[in-house]
Amino acid sequence: MAEAAILRVRHCGADIFCRRPPPRCPACGRPLRGAGLPAAPVRLPSPFRHGHRQPRAFLLRPTAGTFLGGYDGRSDLHVGITNSNGVVYNYNEEGIHRAETGWEQCISIPLVQPEEFGLLQQWDKLLEEFSVGEAWLPHRYEEHDHNCYTYALAFINSVLTAQGKRQMSKSEFTEKFVIPQTKKASKYITLHQELTANDFYIVPLPHQEKQC
Ligand SMILES: [Zn+2]
Repeated sequence: MAEAAILRVRHCGADIFCRRPPPRCPACGRPLRGAGLPAAPVRLPSPFRHGHRQPRAFLLRPTAGTFLGGYDGRSDLHVGITNSNGVVYNYNEEGIHRAETGWEQCISIPLVQPEEFGLLQQWDKLLEEFSVGEAWLPHRYEEHDHNCYTYALAFINSVLTAQGKRQMSKSEFTEKFVIPQTKKASKYITLHQELTANDFYIVPLPHQEKQC
């Protein structure tokens, strides 16, 4: 499901977020056309990616529903790892799934750099072999300490170990890679929700950045 872009216009010392650039500033009523570069609409980059088009990535999405389809910021999240073709390997109480749909709106963290040729070629085999391990049988699932995140992180650590690199703890991976992305996503979700209810969402700029 494609979401309408969020645009930002700067006028009256405020960021004005909207779906369509307004002809006049909603705060002061003056025309925005010809009001200079800050008033030109800028499209905000979406923090969400189509997960099945993100090869060799760590993906995060709500367990039920979508981030822009009513996610309340508290509901459970589910994670998975893509192979080279965007198939999402993920673990839950039913065991390992190899999903070809359902991950269309995700936070995505790439796991392989383009210059890591050896890893690029082996990725699918490593992921498949890791996933058939008995640790990921359905009866081994525990909601709090042997779950989707355990599976994804254990795979990432198995790759790091094979490369002779240091493993990462859950909190280390979360703080370094996941939280910066979820912060951006949370801001975008707020704007999206405001613009579902209203045509504009106006955020005053800090004093020193005021432009008019
Ligand atoms: Zn204005």
